[in-house]
Amino acid sequence: MNIDFGALPTPCYIVDERLLIKNLEILHSVQERTGCSILLALKGFSMYAVFPLVSKYLKGITSSSLFEARLGFEKMGKEVHVYAPAYVEQEFDEFLNYCDHIVFNSFDQWNRFKGKVKNFNAKKIACGIRVNPEYSEIETPIYNPCYKHSRLGVTLSNFRPKELEGIDGLHFHTMCEQNSDTLERTIKVVDEKFGAYIQKMKWLNLGGGHHITRPDYDLETLVRSILFFRDKYGVDIYLEPGEAIALNTGFLVAQVLDIVDNDMRIAILDTSAACHMPDVLEMPYRPHIIDAGKPGEYSYTYRLGGLTCLAGDIIGDYSFTQPLKPGDRLVFCDMAHYTMVKNNMFNGVNLPSIALYNEAEGIKIIRQFTYEDYISRLS
Ligand SMILES: *Cc1c(COP(=O)(O)O)cnc(C)c1O
Repeated sequence: MNIDFGALPTPCYIVDERLLIKNLEILHSVQERTGCSILLALKGFSMYAVFPLVSKYLKGITSSSLFEARLGFEKMGKEVHVYAPAYVEQEFDEFLNYCDHIVFNSFDQWNRFKGKVKNFNAKKIACGIRVNPEYSEIETPIYNPCYKHSRLGVTLSNFRPKELEGIDGLHFHTMCEQNSDTLERTIKVVDEKFGAYIQKMKWLNLGGGHHITRPDYDLETLVRSILFFRDKYGVDIYLEPGEAIALNTGFLVAQVLDIVDNDMRIAILDTSAACHMPDVLEMPYRPHIIDAGKPGEYSYTYRLGGLTCLAGDIIGDYSFTQPLKPGDRLVFCDMAHYTMVKNNMFNGVNLPSIALYNEAEGIKIIRQFTYEDYISRLS
């Protein structure tokens, strides 16, 4: 039943398919109850080994670049949506081959590329405009698409109703790790500002940042919010969470390499905050470790540091019931999303292996990295 973390090479990310299925079932129930379509935002989780599983539940993917769009097209093969702050002229023709929906960040971008969309005969591509409702409850500016002078989305004062011909939908993305009470307050603003335009649309995309699979998430308010727009305007509703798909489904298993002392005990691990869990430094946040507590909670407190030369490559301070020693394994929780998609080989540190667990097959190591992966990105 339980994964034998001791059987893994370290460092290693491992995703538990049982936990992923639990999330996908919750998301699917929202689709069933509301008729909405839920897409996986590849920015948060691009582990294509599980795309066959994800595709049984969700309607497709959303992407923010040519490579993500291609990955979704080739490895999932369902709906492919894209939104990017701007499209590169030389890449746009290739996008057309992969995408079903293209969302533009400005009317100038729409006007620049609409001819190419219209003349693309292989299939009909739906086009949308991202709006900025100038309402968000995110307090960290780096994650707030509505902060002052944000480049993401068209504000009401810049909206050009006369240039909507050919536009089927509107898109907004203003949330991050939030519950549905935030969504309910947000849609009120969106409706007040953009309702007259939504009326003319076929679909509305509510973006990502919906923490739908978190234990305390209020599904009823989400369902009510989706039905509000669907019933008021007769539009199809899309949600495109990333994090909610992979939330609490994966682990990062690492090993203690050495213990040093400098006014406190410091454990150096074979992983790195900077390379393997960059959001620990960027968000910042403190990952949970199985059987470890806050500093001082258990008898033995350590600072956990990575194996790069960056002084700030620190994961945090944790306490344990037994002293740590080289060879001990630590299991970091909730390491499936915004890790594999963001990690890097700074300082020549190798990437963690990637493994998958399911009941029928047990542990499968699906990817290990080598010097070739490192050198192939340099010249
Ligand atoms: C990041 C992003 C998402 C996914 O956000 P999560 O917080 O992972 O749910 C969806 N849509 C857009 C436009 C994004 O930028």
